Amino acid sequence: MAIGEINQDIYFTEEFRQSIYDLADGDRVRTCIQCGTCSGVCPFGYWMDLAPHQMLRTLKEDNLNRLKAAGTVWLCVSCYACTTVCPQQIPLTTALISRTREELLLAGDIPHELQIALENSQRYGNSNGESPRKRADWIKDTSPPVRLISKVGRPVDVLWYVGDYTSYHQRVQKTAKALALILFALDVDFAILGREEVSDGDSQRLAGESGLFELLAEKNSQALSKYDFNEIITTDPHAFNALKNEYPRLGFSFRVRHYTEYLADRLEDLKPLLRKEVNALVTYHDPCYLGRANNIYDQPRALLTAIPGVVLVEMSHNRSHSLCCGNGGGGLWLQGFQWERTGNRLAEWRVREAVSASPEKPFSSGIGEKKRRKVYKKETQLPSTRILAVACPYEAPCFEEAAKLVPQASGLLVKDIAELLAEALGD
Ligand code: SF4
Ligand code: SF4
Repeated sequence: MAIGEINQDIYFTEEFRQSIYDLADGDRVRTCIQCGTCSGVCPFGYWMDLAPHQMLRTLKEDNLNRLKAAGTVWLCVSCYACTTVCPQQIPLTTALISRTREELLLAGDIPHELQIALENSQRYGNSNGESPRKRADWIKDTSPPVRLISKVGRPVDVLWYVGDYTSYHQRVQKTAKALALILFALDVDFAILGREEVSDGDSQRLAGESGLFELLAEKNSQALSKYDFNEIITTDPHAFNALKNEYPRLGFSFRVRHYTEYLADRLEDLKPLLRKEVNALVTYHDPCYLGRANNIYDQPRALLTAIPGVVLVEMSHNRSHSLCCGNGGGGLWLQGFQWERTGNRLAEWRVREAVSASPEKPFSSGIGEKKRRKVYKKETQLPSTRILAVACPYEAPCFEEAAKLVPQASGLLVKDIAELLAEALGD
């Protein structure tokens, strides 16, 4: 079946509706007041056959058949924007959208590119279809060498769950190597799982494949349970979200922090090591699964402002109002579908915001952007280098691609916070 085509044979039943009510806080969907706020903030709401509030009305109206409009749920990038703003605290992202996707998936009504990613995840333990044997190849040229926990032969303080994209993607391996340098500089006793690690499964879960998520969660948890460590750190906010919030629902509980949380807690040790200046105007993109899903906003900013020379400025959408990069919840595997349906890439919107982010001081409002920058520059001499800082492995490659397509962004650099910290480490 072609992408976006609707399978006319699918019929949702009363059990389907009841299954949404039965999910955590799912019963709250009955309290929807149809204010439309969810649809107003949805980055793809305009292009959906049914925007989120219309989906809920449809669910209420007994018109369950309309929910099968594939264009609605497969455009969702699970960004949590609708869930965050809903005055009735309705879990649209995790209950309504994911459950509907699950139903379509069970009926085989699924875009082809997503199907491939899910099959790869099942067969190889990663969505790209890479060999599991190559998962730890990136550590071959690390110096000092990053260790596999199976080779350490004793308990370690930190088990670093590296994740699919960081392990395999050439661009994101730079982030992994930078984070390794920082951990070594801080004298952290750490190791990685290597080929014993598989995909965290969070995006597969949000894409509707809860069975596959459970399989992957079980594999990771069995591997982790073989070893002694005090805590897990993750490179990936999605892995962090899965290990922190979803694995415990399956009976697997570990102490876990995203690396920005971990390093922010070690800031007093880290600061004296940051001796090189990074003279740049830096703006930070809040990843949905650190920010909206887990309320981590201050720690990444604390790390950035600890780097000498960095001038941190905010984009117009920041913190809980951040714009999604378009890759979460399976969005990474639905880019062809998104483009075909909307002719838009969310990452390009974000890059446009990044190049126009400006200092707010010393004026708060009532002054034009050009004048504000001019007066501010006189007082502080703004750096001419612009950097979009990220903290999720999906983001550096996608924003770098987007920057090539946005004419004003030709000089924009995209760097993970770990890369900026590693640059600032003294010799
Ligand atoms: S924001 Fe909440 S209450 Fe308002 S329409 Fe959306 S789901 Fe309903
Ligand atoms: S999670 Fe994000 S993309 Fe999905 S429906 Fe809500 S606002 Fe739209």
